[in-house]
Amino acid sequence: MRHLRLLVLILIALLMCQTGALASDFGDRVKDMAEVTGVRVSKQDSKVRIVVEADKEVDFKKMVLSNPERVVVDLPNAWLSPKVPRDTDLRSQFAGKLHVAQFDKNTVRIVVETKVGKNNYSVFKLKGGASACRIVLDFGDISGSSDNRKINLPDGSPSEKKPSAPPSETDEVEQEMASSGKAEQQEKQPETSQPESGKDTSKQKHVRVEETPSGGVFEGSAKDSGDELDQITGLKGKKIAIDAGHGGSDSGAIGPTGVMEKTITLRVAMELKNLLVAEGATVYMTRTKDTEVSPKKSRATDNEELQARCDIANAREADIFISIHMDSFTNDAAKGTTGYYYAKGSAKSRSLADKVRQGVIDQLGTPSRGTQSCNFYVVKHTDMPATLVELAFISNRSEEKLLYSDAGIQKAAQGILDGIEDYFN
Ligand SMILES: [Zn+2]
Repeated sequence: MRHLRLLVLILIALLMCQTGALASDFGDRVKDMAEVTGVRVSKQDSKVRIVVEADKEVDFKKMVLSNPERVVVDLPNAWLSPKVPRDTDLRSQFAGKLHVAQFDKNTVRIVVETKVGKNNYSVFKLKGGASACRIVLDFGDISGSSDNRKINLPDGSPSEKKPSAPPSETDEVEQEMASSGKAEQQEKQPETSQPESGKDTSKQKHVRVEETPSGGVFEGSAKDSGDELDQITGLKGKKIAIDAGHGGSDSGAIGPTGVMEKTITLRVAMELKNLLVAEGATVYMTRTKDTEVSPKKSRATDNEELQARCDIANAREADIFISIHMDSFTNDAAKGTTGYYYAKGSAKSRSLADKVRQGVIDQLGTPSRGTQSCNFYVVKHTDMPATLVELAFISNRSEEKLLYSDAGIQKAAQGILDGIEDYFN
């Protein structure tokens, strides 16, 4: 018996050494590789955008396979974080399933099933923002996409991409796909090639090199490319005011299990702030605690309290103002997301309201109650494009539960961020 126990102990000890060794092997192996840390999807009326985030500069190779139509993007020298979802149904007219996988030891592969033709998708790279490097895949209307614009030759005549000779990777791809599909086209080392970041001057940073049909090379001017990329990155230098609805003595609406509106709005606002700051935006919060905003605290009138929130955005000359709320109704069946704006205010408010609402819906999966004009104090008395978003109904048991969960908070914040990025693009 004693021997047996000893044996078991030795075995456990051996096993632990082994695991330790494996773990450090893994650490060594991926040390210089880019970690793919996240994949985000945003859906718009005209396109679906997939953003792959990595913690280091990463290149990509793009391939198109048919039957079914798939766009395959390989990221060499990269590894996939376990937290990234592997399969996502995009449920979009432009693209079906999205698969993300560690294809081999050194390659992360992204496969998107799509029926859009080769002129209706675009893959390009962005540097900066929340992660060191982002690979963007757009499907649908790509007129605003980075690499699509670059297809224009200097004389303005549009060029066509020339499929190059069948690539060596084809066999490998077909094996992996285990399908009858045939690799019909590949564009090798595609549109983007950015200089090593080592001696990166800001001038060089965004230069992109494009192969033209004549075999010549078109270099986007650093300035032009930079502007375009900034437009897409969107939020660098933007000033954004976030208003977490209610607070302090004003709980806002209260859900069937007692969750208070002021709690959800603050949690979403704080999460959104983190996301925005990571994207390079400057953020002004009307409150960061469970408190009133007016210096008069609970003695302030409703209008004084709301004006104090507007004052913060107006004094800082914020570019946009987002007020976050939860809806409530006597009938607990009411549910969904609404975007509000003041019709006589800034002309861009409607677009902002629309995009933020859509971003939230795409993330939370809530029904849309549309974008509506309103007379709410905070959107009326702010000087910049402003929206008040009712994320969902706190009076509805399932929406109360959804927005009280960490996942719900995270998704709501991400949805608002997606909407903001969309607005500035
Ligand atoms: Zn409210």
